Amino acid sequence: MVQINENYLKLKNRYLFSQIGEKTKSYQKSHPDKNIIRFGIGDATLPLTPAVISAFHKAVDEMSVVSTFKGYGPEQGYEFLRELISKHEFEKRGVNIFSDEVFISDGAKCDTGNILDLFGKNIIGITDPAYPVYVDTNVMAGNTGNLQENDQYEGLIYLQATEENGFCPEPPDRHVDIIYLCSPNNPTGVALSKTQLSAWVTYALNHHSIILFDAAYERYIQNQDIPHSIYEIPQAKKVAIEFRSFSKTAGFTGTRCAFTVIPKELTGRDSSGNETSIWNLWNRRHSTKFNGVSYTVQRAAAAIYTPEGSKEVNELIKYYRYNTELIKSVLKKKGFSFWGGIDSPYIWVKVPQQITSWEFFDYILNNLQIVVTPGIGFGKSGEGFFRITSFGQHEDTMEAIKRIENWEWSF
Ligand SMILES: *Cc1c(COP(=O)(O)O)cnc(C)c1O
Repeated sequence: MVQINENYLKLKNRYLFSQIGEKTKSYQKSHPDKNIIRFGIGDATLPLTPAVISAFHKAVDEMSVVSTFKGYGPEQGYEFLRELISKHEFEKRGVNIFSDEVFISDGAKCDTGNILDLFGKNIIGITDPAYPVYVDTNVMAGNTGNLQENDQYEGLIYLQATEENGFCPEPPDRHVDIIYLCSPNNPTGVALSKTQLSAWVTYALNHHSIILFDAAYERYIQNQDIPHSIYEIPQAKKVAIEFRSFSKTAGFTGTRCAFTVIPKELTGRDSSGNETSIWNLWNRRHSTKFNGVSYTVQRAAAAIYTPEGSKEVNELIKYYRYNTELIKSVLKKKGFSFWGGIDSPYIWVKVPQQITSWEFFDYILNNLQIVVTPGIGFGKSGEGFFRITSFGQHEDTMEAIKRIENWEWSF
């Protein structure tokens, strides 16, 4: 009999979103006439924009002709896209990221998980609550012990994001090798200011740590003081990897395209203490385990950097932002306490009184037919909160708002 990777057995029951999906499906089955509004999963609902679609179509046509057909592309991504990213995402903000430090992939989810291939035994610090992928992939990789009584994994350092610290944990008093930061944050919707992020970079420089910086929601930043990239902080290239995605930026959740930045300066050490380039390792991993994102998708992604594409993407963000404003106004009116929703499509709301976040989930599904995400699904510190997303259609958002507004809230 084959031995399995027992780390998988340590994982907590089911993936959060499958649990939400099942509860929703089962409610719909017993109430077929009810119109459920999904504020739960962070998925785009608007279609790809015209400039993207037109580039996509053109690329598909190229694939049908011998002279323009493309087989395997470079594993790291086509130079046309890497260069556009280097210029538009970084150079324009005064940040120097070379195109060969940009690795194109099929998703930031995969990259945040796969990056663990490069690292050995380390002390891992993860904010709590967090995007569930960070914790679960560390469990799978064997970087943790078992799930404990308190619902946290032995051996992981949880950096608590609480109401007291404005959901932006400060660097810990102790040593941590690898730190996961997500800004603007999923699920709390809160973004790290320049000062807050600088404190983390300073910590990482002092501790020779590496920050895994997930900026999947960078396009939603409005506030001038919020860095769009960790590399806006001096010396961050020595200590940080940045993950970005076209998913939440341009509606690529079903199309799949993302990129990860690994600066050449970034190093780790082997067991003899020799300094080793992380870029070399990732480049090797990408070449060995990945065969690149499809040419057509990379052409579609490149279209967001054309003048029309860029304008359309801004409109798309504006559309979701309008939802955010509508939701915030009804929450305020009904006396909910909430955070986020400025530099992010997410709003982090306090559960009324003494009920749990899953109880609130059931309550609002059963009474208002609205699906939210229970905060506990993102970690222990998420208990007592729920997340609302702005990714719905205007009509659905308006309808949900009406329901929230007209409901007599009592527990
Ligand atoms: C949605 C999301 C991603 C996933 O991006 P993909 O490129 O679609 O895999 C990564 N990180 C966070 C925090 C997200 O919310």
